[in-house]
Amino acid sequence: MGETVLRADAMLTPEGVVVGAELAFDGSGRITYAGSARPSAPGDPDRETRDLSGHVLMPGLVNGHTHSAMTLLRGVSDDEGFMPWLAAVQALEQHLTHEDVATGLQLAMVEMIETGTVAFADMYHWDERLIELVRAAGMRAMVALASFAPDSVGFPGVSSWTGAEAVEQTEALAERYAGDRQIRVAYGPHAPYTCPPEFLRDIAARAIECGIPIHTHVSESAAEVEQIRERYGTTPGEHLASLGLFDAEVLAAHCVHLTEGEIGLFARTGTAVSHNPVSNLKLGCGIAPLPEWREAGLRVSLGTDSVASNNTLDLFEEIKTATILHRGARQDAAIVRASDVLDIATRGGAEAIGFRETGALEAGRLADVIALDVTGSTATPLDLSAQPRALVSHLGFAATGADVRHVFIGGRHVYADGEHLTLDAGAIRARAARARKRLAAAGS
Ligand SMILES: [Zn+2]
Repeated sequence: MGETVLRADAMLTPEGVVVGAELAFDGSGRITYAGSARPSAPGDPDRETRDLSGHVLMPGLVNGHTHSAMTLLRGVSDDEGFMPWLAAVQALEQHLTHEDVATGLQLAMVEMIETGTVAFADMYHWDERLIELVRAAGMRAMVALASFAPDSVGFPGVSSWTGAEAVEQTEALAERYAGDRQIRVAYGPHAPYTCPPEFLRDIAARAIECGIPIHTHVSESAAEVEQIRERYGTTPGEHLASLGLFDAEVLAAHCVHLTEGEIGLFARTGTAVSHNPVSNLKLGCGIAPLPEWREAGLRVSLGTDSVASNNTLDLFEEIKTATILHRGARQDAAIVRASDVLDIATRGGAEAIGFRETGALEAGRLADVIALDVTGSTATPLDLSAQPRALVSHLGFAATGADVRHVFIGGRHVYADGEHLTLDAGAIRARAARARKRLAAAGS
């Protein structure tokens, strides 16, 4: 396969907005050129040029924390408070089968691709069959096998694996997919309040020895912080540090209630965090100190968390929320800029979940790129030639996932003019609807 050239009205690059843009990538999916449109070379048979007039290009979005199979639980107990919500979700989860997890994952990938997400960090049940579904869809994922305790079975209807077996399977899968461009495998100890300390200490030691990352939840709610203080007399972050966790590569989701000391600890240990503002707001958990994280130089990604606590995987909603939330909370409109959050949702996320060759449109990186239609009402007026930076405002405050028309991942075209090329979206939606009916009947 030869070179592919995309020409669009504008493009978001690390150097800023390029108006009248061209992005080229070779047959291996690597970007060879990102800049102003070049004069067309006459009829090179080995080059395919796509005219994307009326579109803008930006790096594909990275979801730094989700539980994709939980798409099947969209809209469960949304308005009754945290504890009733948790009980309702867990009641349905008990009846999930392996087939349901596959269907939920595929539904999540349909939604992620059509709203511009190219890579995600996930924690749930994972095995080779599910990982192969991600590879077939063309997406990238850091998959963490959720675990709670050595002898507890996380998802009884899905798999008989105990926590100890999930840890062993993590290592087998990490070896199987070592060096894979699309897949990273991680340990997924659920959280410091659900996992016993010895289990966490063992995972930390293994993670360091095997070079496998850890994806976990930290300080999501004030109740969790209180529980850890009662049990261990310290904060969740200090507790995990005492078990050696941060000597490994860690992605910590939520971190809503980190103290100043914990932020310093995360900065010193290079711990990556995932900001999930919509989930934190919806579940009444609070507002994470994003401005302080950024000031301390933390590695930050942006995540939706599961659909059961969001209710979409549309990262554009998350981008806008993350930008305006802290302004309102601090009464300071300059405290977080749209350009900062767009960077977190792309380059920052790719770095945090370990796909370091992606996340930005520049020569040498892999071509994870999305094209958004800018001919609609919410993009009008958008005079990019007079004001190139208006693109940042548009993407940060007005664009939604519904504007995404094309998605390329590592140069592979997975979504073309609103049509999925790797997933049968209609059949997956129908299967998901049937699965939900069955779950609801079983759970009642
Ligand atoms: Zn989560």
